[in-house]
Amino acid sequence: IAKGFRQAKNRLAGLTELTEQNIETALREVRLSLLEADVELGVVKVFLARVKEKALGEVVRVRAKGQGGETMKVSAADQFVKICHDEIIEFMTGEGPALTFAEKGITGIMMVGLQGSGKTTSSAKLARYLQKDGKKPLLVAADMQRPAAVEQLQVLGKSVDIPVFNIPGESPVAICEKAEAEAKRLGRDVIIYDTAGRLAIDEALMQELADIKTKVEPENILLVVDAMIGQDAVKVSKGFHDRLSLTGVVLTKLDGDARGGAAMSVKEVTGAAVRFAGIGEGTDKFEEFRPEGMASRVLGMGDVVGLMKDFEDVVDQEKAAADAMKMLQGDFTLDDFLAQIRMIQKMGSLKDIMGKLPGMDQLPADVNLDDRELVKIEAMISSFTSFERRDPYALIREPSRVARIARGSGTPEQAVSELVQRFLFMKQMMGNMGGMGGLLGNIPGMR
Ligand code: GDP
Ligand code: MG
Repeated sequence: IAKGFRQAKNRLAGLTELTEQNIETALREVRLSLLEADVELGVVKVFLARVKEKALGEVVRVRAKGQGGETMKVSAADQFVKICHDEIIEFMTGEGPALTFAEKGITGIMMVGLQGSGKTTSSAKLARYLQKDGKKPLLVAADMQRPAAVEQLQVLGKSVDIPVFNIPGESPVAICEKAEAEAKRLGRDVIIYDTAGRLAIDEALMQELADIKTKVEPENILLVVDAMIGQDAVKVSKGFHDRLSLTGVVLTKLDGDARGGAAMSVKEVTGAAVRFAGIGEGTDKFEEFRPEGMASRVLGMGDVVGLMKDFEDVVDQEKAAADAMKMLQGDFTLDDFLAQIRMIQKMGSLKDIMGKLPGMDQLPADVNLDDRELVKIEAMISSFTSFERRDPYALIREPSRVARIARGSGTPEQAVSELVQRFLFMKQMMGNMGGMGGLLGNIPGMR
């Protein structure tokens, strides 16, 4: 997913100036990346047009400055990536608060969406979320389509200690209409209506939802979208928006492999932004949507997920997660480095693995490892004292340490110095990535 962006960046690397030509080339790469991230084609076009405009604006600005004798401080690549990053955020950010609350009386939140998108689950999650915030929600089971739907909400409601209202045998519209009296009776201040869905948008469903809307006049209508539907998000959100005027979107199943491009598409098409994210099946796997996090996910930083899967083959999942986390946060030590080298040897081709690490395909040639070299590295690190493993800078401060390790491991001093430099470079690079808004913090489910 990140390939396009990284290639775009590579093409601009070393250039100090954005020009009409290099912007065009970079935009072509970005286009691929967005399509891979499941952003809809029409939305991609609008996005590219805006990035182009801003980048060209930058060209003009920098030239004007250049004539004044000023020199550029940032590279063309950095400028370009920043423009893309900011524009992605712009494409996903909604105005005002996520939910509108009634000034007095009871606030209504109507959940709509296709069957299986996560409406019922998200209703319970949202109720729990609001309850934590001091609100007193009432859940309304208004999906009379499937017999099990009511029971599903009742079970979820019970698990989060929130009442669920339903009248067996009644129509969804009648149930929703009567929910307000029930909320008053129970002293509840927010009503969340869990409605029925279909596999595709159809008129009967839309009519039912429109009727409910007319009767209860909810302050909020949230469309629940499964992130995995990717490009279809455009068609679906447009269909619902045209009939119901959505106020926001809940994007679910972001804990899976979904690329998140849907978040860019829905806002562009409906004007309603993604406000909440579902990041797992449990009722606590729910959070306010953060456009910054998703921008990094769309921009991508390497196939971290793929890397994790490889790790799982040789070590247990928790250790792999902890290791990857440490690496990405930049606080891994030479000891961790050694442990990983041993693990990598068990895992097979190093190049494969390195390719999946964020930024690793950008390593200068001389930093690339080859499998035979691992044995030498292991020998060298084994000759480090534990103090030196924790603080490799010691070798730079005191070169006599390098000589000792070289003798102990039977390698040239040059090789020891290179190892230290390579390690510090890697650590710094990882640290930088961790710092870019927290790479791992941006992958739902990884905290
Ligand atoms: P509905 O038909 O729209 O009411 O959808 P449900 O709430 O019944 O959800 C359909 C399925 O998706 C259920 O198995 C849920 O557990 C699952 N689900 C919902 N939200 C999420 C999520 O954020 N992550 C994951 N992994 N599964 C989810
Ligand atoms: Mg349901």
